[in-house]
Amino acid sequence: MTFISRIDEKHINKDEIKKQAEILKEGKTVIFPTETVYGLGANALDENAVSKIYEAKGRPSDNPLIVHIYDKKQVNDLVKDINENAQIIMNKFWPGPITIILKKKDIVPMRTSGGLDTVAIRMPSNPIAKALLEEVKLPIAAPSANISGRPSPTRGKHVYEEMNNRVDGIILGGDCTFGLESTVLDLTNDIPTILRPGSVTKEDLENAIGQVNIDPALEKKEDNIKAKAPGMKYKHYSPNADVYIVSGDIDNVVKKVNELSYDGAKKGLKCAVMCLEENNNKYKCDTIVLGRNLEEVASNLFNALITADENEYNIVYTEEFPNFGVGRAIMNRLLKSAGYKIIKV
Ligand code: AMP
Ligand code: MG
Repeated sequence: MTFISRIDEKHINKDEIKKQAEILKEGKTVIFPTETVYGLGANALDENAVSKIYEAKGRPSDNPLIVHIYDKKQVNDLVKDINENAQIIMNKFWPGPITIILKKKDIVPMRTSGGLDTVAIRMPSNPIAKALLEEVKLPIAAPSANISGRPSPTRGKHVYEEMNNRVDGIILGGDCTFGLESTVLDLTNDIPTILRPGSVTKEDLENAIGQVNIDPALEKKEDNIKAKAPGMKYKHYSPNADVYIVSGDIDNVVKKVNELSYDGAKKGLKCAVMCLEENNNKYKCDTIVLGRNLEEVASNLFNALITADENEYNIVYTEEFPNFGVGRAIMNRLLKSAGYKIIKV
């Protein structure tokens, strides 16, 4: 049985937070909202507790977890050395959607770090996540609260449908503001490297700490390269529908999608296109509007992919988005969802 709490982030019910914190203290699992996506948490320092996360998600054990904290001082307990870049990032972007990777202390079990000698840490800004972490007073490992390979849930409804009875507690707390997982930044080498793009962009980071590289594994189809962040080699964000990115001038994209969806319908395939609101009326097939700008697209993307499955679409086409700023994070998730299938027009 899963203990469910519904909490309004504007009026946090402390009793409910306490009950869920107790579950975590007992070495069990609790799902909670963050500003990125819902997280599936357990005590990061307890190997048995962490094992339950992998079990609930069906996640491969070499895919490391992000450790969530409520107080920057906790970083000292977890890592060997907080370098200057780490200090700047923590001061400038925490609490917020960026995860830093540093050399771990022995107290962090290998089970949490996926067998690596480094640990990924983040301080979330979502008020419910903060209240829970502060109440439990333990670092909490929390990957996205989806079954491994599925899109990450950003809506309480989807968390409940996918994870009820797979975990010990769930806090339902509204929609996640950013909607994409945190930026992951490796700070263990001379030049900081983005291992996963997110809402804190390369441009934001370069303004704060100077040169930042992007892991080359992000830009290419992952089979061929040895991914540095182990999780990157696995299938990700995959809805049941077959996803295709349609790339090119918008008029050509519209024309192509209309042709393809017309042909699809003749074969009995249910098709839809994910698009910007400004293009919604141009399509003849069903549309899934992602938003008016890149921030809205980021916030709605995973919800759109899960909703497409609920509506039993066989094929989902999507417009392409610019590969800079938060667009880079959007395209990273879309490429994975699409299995790198791009139709160029
Ligand atoms: P999730 O918790 O589902 O958002 O996934 C966390 C991701 O963070 C993993 O899939 C890795 O890509 C990355 N990550 C976590 N810890 C490390 C680490 N120590 N080194 C490199 N990447 C990491
Ligand atoms: Mg995930």
